[in-house]
Amino acid sequence: MAPSPLNEPERRPEVDAVFDAVVVGAGFAGLYMLHRLRGLGFTARVYEAGGSVGGTWYWNRYPGARCDVESMQYSFSFSEDLDQQWDWSEKYAPQPEILAYANHVADRFDLRRHIWFDTRVMAASFDEAAKCWRIETDHGDQVSAKFCIMAVGCLSAANHPPFRGRQDFSGPVYHTGEWPHEGVDFTGLRVGIIGTGSSAIQSIPIIAQQACALTVFQRTATYSVPAWNEKLTPEYRSSIKADYPALRAKARARPTGFYFPFNMKPASEATEEERERQYQEAWERGGLPFLGAYGDLLFEKAANDTIAEFARRKIRSIVKDPATAELLCPDNVFGCKRLCVDTGYFETYNLPHVKLVDVSKTPIERFMADGIEVNGVGYPLDTIICATGFAAMTGSFDKIRITGRNGVTLAEKWRAGPRAYLGVATAGFPNLFTITGPGSPSVLASMIQAIEQHVDWMADFMAHVRDIGAATIEPLPDFEDEWVEHVNEVSKVSLRSTCSSWYVGANIPGRPRVFMPYIGGFPVYVQKCNEVMTNGFEGFAIEGANAGNEAPRVQLTERWRVPLDIEVISPAAVAGRRVPVV
Ligand code: FAD
Ligand code: NAP
Repeated sequence: MAPSPLNEPERRPEVDAVFDAVVVGAGFAGLYMLHRLRGLGFTARVYEAGGSVGGTWYWNRYPGARCDVESMQYSFSFSEDLDQQWDWSEKYAPQPEILAYANHVADRFDLRRHIWFDTRVMAASFDEAAKCWRIETDHGDQVSAKFCIMAVGCLSAANHPPFRGRQDFSGPVYHTGEWPHEGVDFTGLRVGIIGTGSSAIQSIPIIAQQACALTVFQRTATYSVPAWNEKLTPEYRSSIKADYPALRAKARARPTGFYFPFNMKPASEATEEERERQYQEAWERGGLPFLGAYGDLLFEKAANDTIAEFARRKIRSIVKDPATAELLCPDNVFGCKRLCVDTGYFETYNLPHVKLVDVSKTPIERFMADGIEVNGVGYPLDTIICATGFAAMTGSFDKIRITGRNGVTLAEKWRAGPRAYLGVATAGFPNLFTITGPGSPSVLASMIQAIEQHVDWMADFMAHVRDIGAATIEPLPDFEDEWVEHVNEVSKVSLRSTCSSWYVGANIPGRPRVFMPYIGGFPVYVQKCNEVMTNGFEGFAIEGANAGNEAPRVQLTERWRVPLDIEVISPAAVAGRRVPVV
C-alpha cells in the first residue's frame, strides 16, 4: 500500500479552502465518488474518520469477517481492466482481501492524495447567502464546497447498548465493527459474545477454536444458510472474465443487484416432496441464493412457513443437544431479518466448551467485574465481544450536525424517520447528496452495485448543474413525499416489513420504526432514476443564473440502461408489485 502524504496526524488544519465537492467517507462509496468527481474536472476533498480507505472492511476486522455476496460480483464494475486484472481467491473473500482490493482501487486510481484520513466531519451547514456548504472537522478544518456528498455508509455507526455496569467489567470489551487492528488472541480465555446476527455467526466458529470457554448470549435466534465457501480455481475465474460485462448486466437486472439462479414458481403450488427436493438443492448451493428457491417466499406467510420449517429441521439435525437446538430455532419469518450465511455455525454448539444463553425473556441484567449476569445467574468471562450491530442507515448521519435551510437540522427533519427523494437527496438541504441513503435499495441490493449507480447518477447531475450554470438543486417536497409514501407502500407487500429488524430501526430502543430501504427491486429503482434524469431531473428545483428547464446534456451512462428481467423477475411478473428480494 502506498503511503498517503495526507495521512499525517500532525497536519495543519485546512482553513478557508474551497472545493467543488466535499465527500464524507472513504469506503467504496467515497472512493468511487472521488474518482468520478476528478474525472469530471471537479476539485474535491474527502474526509475519512478511519486511518485508511475501505470503510466497512477497514473497521470490521473480527475473525471470520467476509462478504456474503460472491466476490466476483461484490466488486466494482466500472472498470473492465480492474475486473480483468483483480483475482479473487475465494467464493466469499475474507476481510483482509476485500480491504486489499479497496487499497488497490485507491492506488490504481491515485485517490489517496485527495483524502484526509483520521479526520471526522462534525458539522456541515448550508450557507444560504453563498449557496455553499461549510464543513467542519474534528481536526480543525473549516472548508466550503458547492456540493456535499455523504458517503458515510449504512452500517458504519456501531451500536453500543448501554449495559448496566459496563465500566465494572475488568476485562476488555470489543465491538465487531470496531475491531483492533492488531487482532485479538483468545487462546485459553473465557469469552462471551452478545448477539447472533451475521457478524456473530461468522466469528463464533473461529473464536470457539481459540477460547477455552465460549458463551453466546442470544436475544433472537437467527436463520443461517451454509456458505459452502471454496477456493476459486483459475478456470472458474477465467470463465467469468471471458464475459464479465454479461454477468454484470444480468446482475443489474435482478432485484438484488446480483445474479443467482432463481425459481419463479410459488412454493404454495409445489407438492411437499417437490418443495423438499427444491429446498435441499438450494441448501446445497448455499448462501443468500437459498431464498431464490421459490418466488413467493417473502410474500406469502404460508409459503414462508415451509422454508422456515425446513431451516429449523436442518438446525435440529445438526445440533445434538435438543434443548440448545430448540433455542437456536427461530420462530419468526424466514429472511425477515437479514439472512445469515455461515461456515460451521450451528455445528459449533456441539463443542463441549460452547454454551448458549437465552436472553430473549430475561435480558442481560448487568456486566459484573468478572462476567455477565442474566436472570440472577453469573457467567464468568475474561473478555466480552459485542456483536450488537449498527444504528443502521441513519446512524452516521446522526453523528454529524447537518444544517440546511432556515437552520433546520437533518436530525430534526428525520426525527420521525428519514425522508429523502429516491434516497439521494432531501428537501431543505440543497446540493447535499446521500449515497445509498434511506429510500434507496442500498442494503437490499448488492451494495457495490447500489453505490456505483448512485455515484454515476449524482456525478451526472453535478455535471449538469455545472454545465447549465445553476447554483442549487433540491428535491421538491411533493415529489419527496410521494417517493417516501411509495417506499412505505411497497414495503408492506413484503413479509420483511413484519419483524423487528434493523431495516425498520427496531434493533435499538427509541429509534423511529420505518422501513428504511427501498424494497421495490434494484432495476425498478434504476429505471425510476433514469426517468427522473431524462425528464430534466424531474422533482428537483434547479435554481441559479442560467437554470431553467433545460434538458440534461449528460447522457445516461450506458450500463445503467438496466432492462427489467421481466421474463424471470419483476414486480409485474410476481403478483402485482411483489418483488422477490434477498
Ligand atoms: P462504508 O464502507 O461504511 O464507509 C463509510 C465510511 O465513512 C467509513 O469508513 C466511516 O469511517 C466514514 N465516516 C462516517 N462518518 C464519517 C464522518 N462524520 N466523518 C468522516 N468519515 C466518516 N454488503 C454487500 O452488498 N455484500 C456483503 O457481503 C456485505 N458484507 C458486509 C459485512 C459486514 C461485516 C458489514 C458491516 C457490512 C457488509 N455489507 C455487505 C455492507 C457494506 O457496508 C457495503 O457493502 C459497503 O462496504 C458500504 O460501503 P460505503 O462506502 O457505502 O460505506
Ligand atoms: P445485527 O444483525 O444487527 O445483529 C446484532 C445482534 O446483536 C442481534 O442478534 C441482536 O439481537 C443482538 N443485540 C443487539 N442489542 C442487544 C442487546 N441489548 N442485548 C442482547 N442482544 C443484543 O448486526 P451484525 O451482525 O453486525 O450485522 C449487521 C449487518 O451487517 C448484517 O445484517 C449484514 O447486512 C451486514 N453483515 C454482513 C456480513 C456478511 O456475511 N457479509 C457479516 C456481518 C455483517 P436482536 O436480533 O434481538 O436485535
